[in-house]
Amino acid sequence: MSDNGQYCMQCNKKLERDEKAIYRRLVNRGAREYLCIPCLARYFKCSEEDIKKRIVQLKAMGCTLFG
Ligand SMILES: [Zn+2]
Repeated sequence: MSDNGQYCMQCNKKLERDEKAIYRRLVNRGAREYLCIPCLARYFKCSEEDIKKRIVQLKAMGCTLFG
């Protein structure tokens, strides 16, 4: 199973590893399609900064979804 070459299902932006990880963490652990951070922020009606902060927090907690 390769995670390469995935694009945001909304805007088609190429996804970073973190973007997929946060989507799994916040939306659906078994997700196979993802949103980029800007689209995810819109989905949650919060700011991109909030999402990025969550990523930093989860990494600091040693969340296993962030390799
Ligand atoms: Zn997007």
